[in-house]
Amino acid sequence: MKESEETITVIIFRGARANPWRLKIRKAFVKHGLIWGLALLLIQGGIVTHYVYQWNQLSEFEGIKKELNATRSKTSTFSTEVDGMKKRMLVLENLNRKLQTMFGLEPDEIHGLPSDLAGQGGEELPYDGLQDEADVQPLVSNDRGSSVGAADGSSAFLTTKRQIREIKVGLDWLNQETKFESQILDNLSSVARKKAVQWASTPSIWPVSGRITSRFGPRISPFTGKKRLHAGVDVGASTGTEVRAPASGKVVVAAYDSRMGKFIRIDHGFDIETTYGHLSKIHVKYGDRVHRSDLIGLVGNTGKFSTGPHLHYQVAVNDKVVDPLHYILD
Ligand SMILES: [Zn+2]
Repeated sequence: MKESEETITVIIFRGARANPWRLKIRKAFVKHGLIWGLALLLIQGGIVTHYVYQWNQLSEFEGIKKELNATRSKTSTFSTEVDGMKKRMLVLENLNRKLQTMFGLEPDEIHGLPSDLAGQGGEELPYDGLQDEADVQPLVSNDRGSSVGAADGSSAFLTTKRQIREIKVGLDWLNQETKFESQILDNLSSVARKKAVQWASTPSIWPVSGRITSRFGPRISPFTGKKRLHAGVDVGASTGTEVRAPASGKVVVAAYDSRMGKFIRIDHGFDIETTYGHLSKIHVKYGDRVHRSDLIGLVGNTGKFSTGPHLHYQVAVNDKVVDPLHYILD
């Protein structure tokens, strides 16, 4: 009886003919077996959980690595773009300096690239010395291959860090240069406008078509017989031939004078005035604004100092008469 209390009998039936097996197992053994089994199960469960956790960590890490690579790639692309902008800015600076020279202005100094780029020598680089895009690109874009090991991680990280710093310095430089070049462009634009006005206001065409009958300069006056300065040029043309303004300006005289007959004077600004004498007809009045090629009057033979139909055309700069031929380009 005592034995049966301490053991458990397990009977295994093996069919109708064979005798069943009887296994007697001590209760204590079963109890210990159960405890150990449970313990093993728990340990195994722990190991499995640990691996599952590690696996999750690993896939999270893979995700971060991919993101990091994508960021590096973007940083590299952006760095290349910033380098491209820097090149274009230098081209623009050069163009601005040429325009300044062409417009007779003292050209500003070209600032060159930012001087404190890490690991690039630090000196100002001339345009030809700029990095090619090929020099910049491979830093990160090639690291999709086998080289993305953990060992490369820190150097790639440093490269990215350096690129970010260069980008920042480059952007600061671009920001500053944009402001500076904008000012120069504003200045050039106002000078160009002034030049355009000056060009439009400078006499440059024949006011009438005809033949020169008397040039500018000293001559024996046909009226007094004395040596006098002929203050303009005489162009012989038949009465009624059109007289046109050789540049834009403002009519400051449209009147009759006993010697000049009907005459017009135009103030072109920039200290230049032109005068048209002996007209048969005046088509403008005091204060009118005229432009190059506008009809202002007709050739005639009015006034004492005229021996036949012609236009007396006179140009004065700073109140001093000059040879009008210097102001005719056509
Ligand atoms: Zn004359």
